[in-house]
Amino acid sequence: MIEYRNLRIALLGGGNVGAQVAALLIEHGDELASRAGAGLELIGVAVRDLDAVRTPAIPRELLTTDAESLIGGADIVIELMGGLEPARTLILQAINSGADVITGNKALLATHGAELFDAAEQVGAQLYYEAAVGGAIPIIRPLRDSLAGDRVKRILAIVNGTTNFILDLMEREDATLEDALAKATELGYAEADPTADIEGYDAAQKVSILASLAFHTNFPLDAVYREGITAVTIEQVEAARKAGYVVKLLAICERLTDESGVDGVSARVYPALIPAAHPLAAVHGANNAVFIEAEAAGSLMFYGAGAGGLQTASAVLGDLVSAARRHVIGGPGVAESTQANLPVLDMGSVLTRYQITLEVVDQPGVLAAIAGLTNEHNVSVETLTQSAAGSGDVPATATLVIGTHEATEAALAATVNALRTNQVVRSVVSVLRVEGL
Ligand code: NAP
Repeated sequence: MIEYRNLRIALLGGGNVGAQVAALLIEHGDELASRAGAGLELIGVAVRDLDAVRTPAIPRELLTTDAESLIGGADIVIELMGGLEPARTLILQAINSGADVITGNKALLATHGAELFDAAEQVGAQLYYEAAVGGAIPIIRPLRDSLAGDRVKRILAIVNGTTNFILDLMEREDATLEDALAKATELGYAEADPTADIEGYDAAQKVSILASLAFHTNFPLDAVYREGITAVTIEQVEAARKAGYVVKLLAICERLTDESGVDGVSARVYPALIPAAHPLAAVHGANNAVFIEAEAAGSLMFYGAGAGGLQTASAVLGDLVSAARRHVIGGPGVAESTQANLPVLDMGSVLTRYQITLEVVDQPGVLAAIAGLTNEHNVSVETLTQSAAGSGDVPATATLVIGTHEATEAALAATVNALRTNQVVRSVVSVLRVEGL
């Protein structure tokens, strides 16, 4: 029987993820020890309410409300409390006491990541956060280690399971946004207050973490352009389907050169059309996927459960084994790589394609009028499809779907404004960006 040095593990939080981590750590302790090369002793679990029911149960003697004292005796601290405070202060305390820290807290990393990574570097500790993006999906380590020798060009990701579930239900069962949200709430995919998910805040936090990592640059959360899914209609989803697209809430980050030749990074979240044949179009239900385009590796996709207590615990325990191995070997932690320090570019630098669906008056000369208007605003039309006129209206109404070439956001916005006030246009039914072509 091999005798391992024991590492003391403090767990902050015994909720959905924390309770699963505690149970797996207790149940699979010997197996994890042999992989880590060190015994992993769970010395305590900090919670708010000692009497709350936990699933799975955590042995009563491990529970404490004194997180600070718990941290004091730990080699590795796992933070699964969520929120900004006291998580930030406790993590800084852990780092400064020489512990490595594992967290799944995307809100904290997106807001205070630079401060925490800096603090860890100062003392040679390491911060692990595989669970912060994509739940069970290994994406942080592949970006940090496996792709460290490559250059990432672009990431297109579905990182919010709730919105993917909602859009997927609208696509596959013709549900309205309201009905799909109600179903997501009923099944526990959406919180009582779904704002963070449906307005894209959660995805924005995750894409700022991915952008920082992929482009070796600190990408601040407030520089992420964000639109949620609340304006997506069933008509847009149907029109997309007819045109061979699927509507997804995409988190995108990419390396770009702006009009003045500056090389930088953009990150954004919005509902967009992707071709039905794109691998991300096949991501159904509450699943997540991260599609990476790298210079040498080409296209890679990482897919799986983006949330769930047990699934996320898998990512946390992977980090725990890595942290334990590092402790056994010794030496300072690997600092977060921000050496590229690329400028952060705003939406004005981004070139996108749009698909614009219009209801127009069905009479001669309409197509020429629309084409003239787009030219006037420097937007070049790639496809123009007119469908059968509606019956009953006099003059009749036809549906016109315009697919544009790449253009700046400003040019596209001016075009859409001009279309809205043009006499031949009855209504602008839908305006969506097109990605993944
Ligand atoms: P949760 O169910 O709300 O659990 C939070 C835990 O932290 C609870 O046990 C709570 O104690 C404890 N806690 C909160 N504030 C505390 C304080 N001030 N002092 C001591 N204990 C405190 O959260 P979760 O779903 O497990 O998520 C944990 C973290 O993982 C979050 O950062 C989340 O974003 C991240 N994450 C979660 C998932 C997921 O699927 N759930 C997926 C990926 C990442 P009580 O139980 O006594 O209230």
